Amino acid sequence: MSTSTHVTSSGGETVAPGSLAGNGRLGRAAGRGPAPGRGRPAPSEHVHIAIAGTGFAGLGMAIRLKQAGIHDFVLLERARDVGGTWRDNSYPGCQCDVPSHLYSFSFAPNPDWSRTYSRQPEIWEYLRRCAQEFGIVPHIRYDHEVQMAEWIEDERRWRIQTPSSTLTADIIVSGVGALSEPSIPAIPGLADFQGKVFHSAAWDHGHDLQGKRVASIGTGASAIQYVPRIQPEVDRLYVFQRTPAWILPHTDRPVSRLERRLYRALPALQRLVRRGIYWGREWLVLGLTGHRALMRLPAQIGRRHLRHQVADPDLRARLKPRYQVGCKRILISNDFYPALTQPNVELVTDGIREIRAHSIVTTDGAEREVDTIIFGTGFHVTDMPVAERVRGRDGRTLDEIWQGSPEAYLGTTITGFPNFFMLLGPNTGLGHTSVVFMIEAQVAYVMDCLRAMDARGLGTVEVRPEVQAAFNRETQAQLRRTVWNAGGCASWYIDANGRNSTLWPDFTWRYRQRTARFDLRDYVAEPSRTAPAGVPAAA
Ligand code: NAP
Repeated sequence: MSTSTHVTSSGGETVAPGSLAGNGRLGRAAGRGPAPGRGRPAPSEHVHIAIAGTGFAGLGMAIRLKQAGIHDFVLLERARDVGGTWRDNSYPGCQCDVPSHLYSFSFAPNPDWSRTYSRQPEIWEYLRRCAQEFGIVPHIRYDHEVQMAEWIEDERRWRIQTPSSTLTADIIVSGVGALSEPSIPAIPGLADFQGKVFHSAAWDHGHDLQGKRVASIGTGASAIQYVPRIQPEVDRLYVFQRTPAWILPHTDRPVSRLERRLYRALPALQRLVRRGIYWGREWLVLGLTGHRALMRLPAQIGRRHLRHQVADPDLRARLKPRYQVGCKRILISNDFYPALTQPNVELVTDGIREIRAHSIVTTDGAEREVDTIIFGTGFHVTDMPVAERVRGRDGRTLDEIWQGSPEAYLGTTITGFPNFFMLLGPNTGLGHTSVVFMIEAQVAYVMDCLRAMDARGLGTVEVRPEVQAAFNRETQAQLRRTVWNAGGCASWYIDANGRNSTLWPDFTWRYRQRTARFDLRDYVAEPSRTAPAGVPAAA
């Protein structure tokens, strides 16, 4: 049995040896040697809270803990820098499709966004700055991918295995998100391909595309951003499309110096703009969840956009979406359609039969020679690998319990998994607005839980099965009439069992309302076996 090794620093903070040793350095490029540190942590070190991941979710959680005076936590990061999806997705043209002022922490506004829709380098930089300025960096352990987390009932704590350490924690917060594991389809013959292959979320910047014959598979949110950027470079570009998407015009523009000065001088103005953007997108929920007439306008705009940008009727017909707008994520782009009309580009709509050493063969028998294959094929969302790595009270993993259909209470807590919180868990995804809003609501919920645990001297909390079941019945009933479930498309929102276990079915402010207070009546709680950790009262 491992023993707790809390020590108290001179400043009165409870710290775990090694966890605050400053063993991470921001700004170190990912993939350059092992992270420096002051020695490996003790083999069975104990921390109060372990957070997995350092994207918006992990960092947001850590910042709120720190602000509440809780310092006994570590962030376990598989890579060598912070940023999550905004570190990994560095493909050309990567840009957020939610406006900058909304796609950021409410407590850390950035008056200096250079564009109304931020590009990946600027968001990544923002996250690195947040980690630095809020004092999170010393808590981060790089190269610490969570390989397994098991609930040890006798000790009432989690045991976490990473490649270089084993540690125990009273509480785990998973901040790994849903878009962290690239999905590459198992196309026959892929292993025999002799050229270069990579996924959009692991772009090989060392591979020169100049003059190459490139196949890009998928036409989702990522592909429509990188296709226009690589098209001028390559000799030939084959864009393999399975389902045409709804694409609306982009309103991205540079933010003027005057605007930035105003935001800096008048933070309330930036808050007002943020609020305006929030409500401007929130009304879409009405259309997406049932009032279909409201989706006529976006559909009209999409159809007109396609008509204006693609003159060739045959190409236009193949790009025309055949499901209701909003069923899949609505994409925005001004340069994807024009890129497809360039002479070195071919839109391929026949299915892929097989990949050979130097070519791709489609179902019509045509063979196209290619040097490089880029997969813009999305992520493992409803079959996220983290589910295989978390083992609960009865010894089963999340994956074994879920059986392909993830579910939780408020997308955050799960029966059988005491003291385990999942940020951006099942049914907290969004198609229309900023997930940072959802993350902040969940973080506030976790903070309220920690306060309740401290105030009542609780050691464990576990959501009641009937509460989780009722929540999911209600969520699924609400989803039934939405465009995501009934809009006539096959999307990654729907899991292997045909259930929508990805999206929140309502207004996001309703989610915030529901997570505003941690209600202990929804949980089975057990008293702490040791003295309370000293969590400060509500901020
Ligand atoms: P995606 O939206 O899931 O798109 C994947 C694409 O690959 C789809 O066109 C899909 O076709 C195609 N595909 C998948 N498997 C295939 C197969 N076996 N054969 C042929 N085609 C296949 O993935 P993504 O573009 O990486 O985006 C994922 C999510 O990341 C987005 O929905 C969004 O939430 C997020 N994202 C956001 C931004 C942003 O601006 N904020 C940017 C990029 C990504 P089907 O449609 O037929 O399935």
